Amino acid sequence: MSKAVNDIQVPDEIRQSALNVRDNAYVPYSDHPVGAVLISESGKTYAGCNVESANYKGLCAEASAIAGLVSSGERAIRTIYVIGPGEDLCTPCGDCRQRIREFATPQTDIVVLDGNGAPLKHYTMDELLPDSFGPENLNKTSGMR
Ligand SMILES: [Zn+2]
Repeated sequence: MSKAVNDIQVPDEIRQSALNVRDNAYVPYSDHPVGAVLISESGKTYAGCNVESANYKGLCAEASAIAGLVSSGERAIRTIYVIGPGEDLCTPCGDCRQRIREFATPQTDIVVLDGNGAPLKHYTMDELLPDSFGPENLNKTSGMR
């Protein structure tokens, strides 16, 4: 079940990491910088930003952070924070909802921050991508499953 905004704690180091990585985004085409910071099941932190290219096939911030998780040999997301440039909700895109789903558990917290790093909204995986298709549908396991 989603948590009320007032019940969401964003540790200072996570907030700072989210702001820093968002500010490193390479977004000359969209001018829409996004950062993602995830905490793995082991408690390590992985950060990523969006990286665009001239052919308009950019890499999302969430994908960038997940690449770090997987590249380090980890497979499970405990919490993922997403920060956009402004005050509006910058929720994960459809592709990233599926990417997060691959490494999420029913307990994974998805938190969208405002441009200053304050929490705007919390989602469970099922709220972010209801009735999702995942590894179990192929009789595979991933993350904590
Ligand atoms: Zn995305």
